[in-house]
Formats: sequence, C-alpha cells, structure tokens
Amino acid sequence: MYYGFDVGGTKIEFGAFNDKLERVATERVPTPSDDYQLLVDTISGMVKKYDLQFETEGTVGLGLPGMESADDGTVLTVNIKAAKGKPLRFDLEKAIGRKVLIENDANCFALSEAWDEELQNEKSVAGLILGTGFGGGFVFDGKIFSGHNNVAGEVGHMRLPIDAWFHLGDTGTAPLLDCGCDKKGCLDNYLSGRGFELLYAHYYGEKKKAIDIIKAQAEGDANAVEHVERFMELVAICFANLFTGLDPDVVVLGGGLSNYDLLYQELPKRIPKYLMSVAKCPKIMKAKHGDSGGVRGAAFLNIKQ
Ligand SMILES: [Zn+2]
Repeated sequence: MYYGFDVGGTKIEFGAFNDKLERVATERVPTPSDDYQLLVDTISGMVKKYDLQFETEGTVGLGLPGMESADDGTVLTVNIKAAKGKPLRFDLEKAIGRKVLIENDANCFALSEAWDEELQNEKSVAGLILGTGFGGGFVFDGKIFSGHNNVAGEVGHMRLPIDAWFHLGDTGTAPLLDCGCDKKGCLDNYLSGRGFELLYAHYYGEKKKAIDIIKAQAEGDANAVEHVERFMELVAICFANLFTGLDPDVVVLGGGLSNYDLLYQELPKRIPKYLMSVAKCPKIMKAKHGDSGGVRGAAFLNIKQ
C-alpha cells in the first residue's frame, strides 16, 4: 500500500493506493498553521489509522510547496508556516517508525502523470505547470530527478532566453519583470496564467483576466488576437529551450492555463523551428489527474526506490 500526503498551506490531503495504483482511501484535514508538533502528530496519526484499517504498513511520501535543504534536510517553504525550517522527514520517521520521502509538489505532479497507465512505458516525462506561477518536474525511468540541491525542475526561475526577449520587443517594448526570488526576467512571470495577464496589461494598458482575454481572442478582438499570437510564440521559444536541455519523450501540462486547448494545436507547429535541426518536438499532452496529482505523486515516490 502506498500512502501519499499533499501538504498545502491550508489543507492536507491523504490518499492510499493499492498495488494496482488505484486509490482506495481519501481524507482531507486542515493544515495546523503554527503548531509543528500538531503537524507531525496529524500526519503520523493518519498513517497509523490507515495501517490498522488496511492491516499493513504502507509506504509514506509527502509532497509540499517547497523542498528539503540539501544540507540538513530541513524544510524550505513559505506556504506552510508550521513546517518552515523544521526537520520534518526526520521527525516523521521517528514518529512512524519507517522511511518517509518528501518532494516538491510540482515534482509530485510530474511523477503522478508519468505513472498514468498511458505513459508508464515512456522513458522520460516532463511535467510543466502553467498555473498562478510556472514550474515543473522531470521524471526519468519512473523516478523524479531532484538534482544536487533539490531544485531540479524549478524551471520558473530560469530567465527568458535571448530570442524570447527579442520576440517581446527587445529594450523598446519588452517588459523586464521582477520575480519573487529577487531576480529579474524569470519565466515564472511570463509563462504563467499571471504572466499571461501581466503581458496583456503591459502591451495594452488594461488589466484583464486570462479567461476574458481568451474569450475576446475567440471573438476576434484585435488586441486579444495579437496578444495570444505573441504569447503562443513566446511559450514555443521558452519550451524549445527547455526541450533542448531535457529532450523529454513526453510533456504533460498542468495548471489553469493548461486548459487552453489552443496550446496543443499551436505549440507542436511553432516549437520545431527553435529546436536543433536533429530534434523533434515531444508529444505535448494535457494532465489527466488534475487536483489529485499532488497526492498521487507523493504516494508514488516510493514505487521505485
Ligand atoms: Zn525567479
């Protein structure tokens, strides 16, 4: 039995998965906001409860918005106050009496999709999230590649490629956007749903929601049509840069903007010209598991250990 916890700023979602990777239990509880011991007790209590129910010792994986410090294993996160700077894995292992794995939630998203029936035989899967921010994870041979500092997959904090900068108008009109990580020009602020809206406001001096821009584009509004054209090419340039570094077999898109079906028509047409001549564009698909991706991926951390 595989147990997964998707630990967010406001709620913890639990899922238990059997050997066929079918979900056999679900529970949601509020995340203790300031009380670290209560957080440890909540998670370990649920593990013990489901051990009794299933008469087994399930494996335990956690996904959270952040990562473990590569130096001492403490949790680096801004969204879960109770866990910030705490040795969560160490304390959970002590409380539960077995190994616990912790991963970034975007990596869990990628792992969940990579273990979907349709993709299980693919060698490499990149999961890219076009949500409030832009992030992702890379799964190779069924396992997450976390990197030396656990920051592999943090593609949102790679800076704009130079051809993307020229595409946006160079120093004349291209916006150099500040990022929450203190750098400028991070992809997070351009390719996300938020970036889609920021760019529209930059070029047309008007704040509009992504959903309204998309509707206006479909109705033929000139600004919205121009904006979407510029955005699709921008995504194609940035994705092509990523694909040159990663060369994934399959790319799965998640997050709110991944529901924009035009992406799946436009990107395969636009990306090849930015790749090396020997490279083909990977298959680009919409995520299948939506909101349950985090908990699935957390549970599946233990599949290939
Ligand atoms: Zn950044």
